[in-house]
Amino acid sequence: GHAQQTGKQVLEFDPAMTTEASTDLALLRDLQQALQTGSGQIRPAFQPIVDLRTGRIVAVEALARWVRPDGTAVEPDRYIGLAEASGWIGALGQRMLQLSCEAGVALRRQHPDLRVHVNVSPVEAEQPSFVQATLATIHRSGLPLDAVVLEVTEQVFLPRSGAALDAFLTLAGEGVALALDDFGSGYASVGYLSRLPLAYIKIDKSFTAELGSEGALLEDLMPFLRARGPVIIAEGVETDVHLRNLERLGCALGQGWLLGRPILPLEPDGDPATILGLAVAQRFGTS
Ligand code: C2E
Ligand code: MG
Ligand code: MG
Ligand code: MG
Repeated sequence: GHAQQTGKQVLEFDPAMTTEASTDLALLRDLQQALQTGSGQIRPAFQPIVDLRTGRIVAVEALARWVRPDGTAVEPDRYIGLAEASGWIGALGQRMLQLSCEAGVALRRQHPDLRVHVNVSPVEAEQPSFVQATLATIHRSGLPLDAVVLEVTEQVFLPRSGAALDAFLTLAGEGVALALDDFGSGYASVGYLSRLPLAYIKIDKSFTAELGSEGALLEDLMPFLRARGPVIIAEGVETDVHLRNLERLGCALGQGWLLGRPILPLEPDGDPATILGLAVAQRFGTS
């Protein structure tokens, strides 16, 4: 009968799956603790975004870093999904936004036009409090709204993300700039681009990686995207070949190992203004 069949399924469990599930639970418990205590375990690293014509750093992207009390680091790809599934992404996102904006204020004392990019999950953006919490956090930091760029992924165009799409439309109306992250990595087509007022499109690193090879898609895609208005940022700029081809194709901005790695301030409350100095030194190989 049916009950027997169910019992059979329970007995034939996959041990690998159970291990993964209990690891997830342990990780989730630690994640909650890290977010509840305000312990500084989760905080932003900053990676420069560079004007490919002038070589100047025009922005930094905040990337979440989780360093546990024992000094071990957990990769974002391991806990962002977990935070989304558990509902903790709101707390994580607001924490990241707050710390990133505070750092942005410090960085702009020496670099007045610098912008700060912050990643936002569509799951976070669906929460009813998201728009007000985001505006309040930015205002409290003292960072002007037009210095903030929110990075959204193509997931925002999924039918189930309608509430997130509305939230980003509202924020854009308030003067927050939007960037489409990892463009081309998902299913989204160029037809979706008109559904959000995008200030930036970030080309996924898989496209950048093809540059210099026969039939690289960016040869046709770049002129097409450039004609549409948003400023183009190439992700994953790792080599001189990438850089030369991006310059030739007229790509405005770039980000990647070649231009500067993400830098985590040594102290959670350390002076973030040193970040840009470090990034500049790194970019020009002077340290
Ligand atoms: P992303 O937003 O596309 O961020 C860029 C990722 O590419 C980062 O990985 C960065 O370290 C990496 N990267 C930068 N330059 C290069 C390069 O030249 N080559 C290669 N191969 N990789 C490069 P990271 O820090 O591991 O973050 C992974 C993803 O996790 C991010 O992708 C983003 O989707 C998510 N994430 C990180 N921080 C946050 C956050 O605060 N909130 C949310 N919602 N998601 C975040
Ligand atoms: Mg991003
Ligand atoms: Mg990206
Ligand atoms: Mg990504």
